[in-house]
Amino acid sequence: MNILVINAGSSSLKYQLLNPETGVLLAKGLCERIGIDGKFTYKPQVEGKETLNAVDVAMPTHSEAIQAVLNALVDPQNGVIGSMKEIDAVGHRVVHGGEAFAGSVLITDEVMKALEDCIPLAPLHNPANITGIKACQECMPGVPMVGVFDTAFHQTMPPMAYMYALPYEYYEKDRVRRYGFHGTSHKYVTQRAAAMLGKPIEELKLISCHLGNGSSITAVDGGKSVDTSMGFTPLAGLPMGTRSGDLDAGILQYLMNKYGMNIDEMLNVLNKKSGMEGLSGVSSDFRDLENAAAEGNQKAALARDKFAYEVRKYVGAYAAAMGGVDAVIFTAGVGENDAGVRADVCQGLDFMGVKLDADANNVRGKETVISAADSPVKVLLIPTNEELMIAMDTAAIVSGK
Ligand code: AMP
Repeated sequence: MNILVINAGSSSLKYQLLNPETGVLLAKGLCERIGIDGKFTYKPQVEGKETLNAVDVAMPTHSEAIQAVLNALVDPQNGVIGSMKEIDAVGHRVVHGGEAFAGSVLITDEVMKALEDCIPLAPLHNPANITGIKACQECMPGVPMVGVFDTAFHQTMPPMAYMYALPYEYYEKDRVRRYGFHGTSHKYVTQRAAAMLGKPIEELKLISCHLGNGSSITAVDGGKSVDTSMGFTPLAGLPMGTRSGDLDAGILQYLMNKYGMNIDEMLNVLNKKSGMEGLSGVSSDFRDLENAAAEGNQKAALARDKFAYEVRKYVGAYAAAMGGVDAVIFTAGVGENDAGVRADVCQGLDFMGVKLDADANNVRGKETVISAADSPVKVLLIPTNEELMIAMDTAAIVSGK
């Protein structure tokens, strides 16, 4: 079985063709500058097939972009499948499913309507996701399409975790609540963790730390998300590459009054100019922070310390929320690659049974147990694979499992 996984943005589209049963990736790539001039990248993962980087590929809309992807996949010379018939289904990443979707779903006309209803909750992302779905429907009539939501995994949170202490009517009338994001990643790594630990996920309390340019932490009890650090939007929770994470809302009024900023300008600061970049004045990238800190830049060191400290606080909080923890998982760009951040997060957590093995921690990008052999709480490095999770969900839905 082959699943085409699509992640559509407003002017870009990422794709992968993979087999969800074996996890084998056949091809991946990217369409950029859709609606401008069109840049097409195709990277077949089969020996003897050649990569294609093409500029000025006419892509006035997402439909031409999808068509370019399909043409490349079936190309007699560098394609990886014989015909379109070998694509069994398409899995679409959709950012926001609101409260309508607690799992992945076969896309029907009714589902498309519900997706449109979610646009106010994710005005920057959902319209592009919907455009990607429509373009695929146009180019691939009859092929089943599945929507996989960043928010769906978190729909199991109890009200005390997802409600904000605001007037209740803002929830009832305006759907203001914690939704959480990165759900596909948290679901994938917690399933892998159960496999690595050799225990049914129903018996495990896990804390999943997705630490990348965007970061979130999720408490997963018995395979279900029970709390997560991102909120109504992906601005909440941890400080990130350029996002502030949680802060006192009173700061907004103070700064807006002082500098005459409107709310859009203020949110631009919080989303794009804060976090590691804002605090360090150096970069949003943890590699740059590490180098700058090594050269004595104190603000860069502070930014890294602040990040690790906030992650550590969430680990403690979520262990308390679940009444214990069996394993802490590190994933995504920083979590998979930055041994220093992992060590700093785990520092001082021996009191709750977390003991890192310094040698085992000296690893990047591969599934590894990085806790000491006698650590009551296991610490796991698990590379995330959101595309594979989307393909697995899509396969399960189209085969009725
Ligand atoms: P992601 O959003 O998961 O793609 O993560 C991207 C971020 O991971 C980058 O901005 C870097 O901060 C971080 N990152 C990637 N590679 C490394 C590395 N080798 N060491 C430290 N941080 C890294």
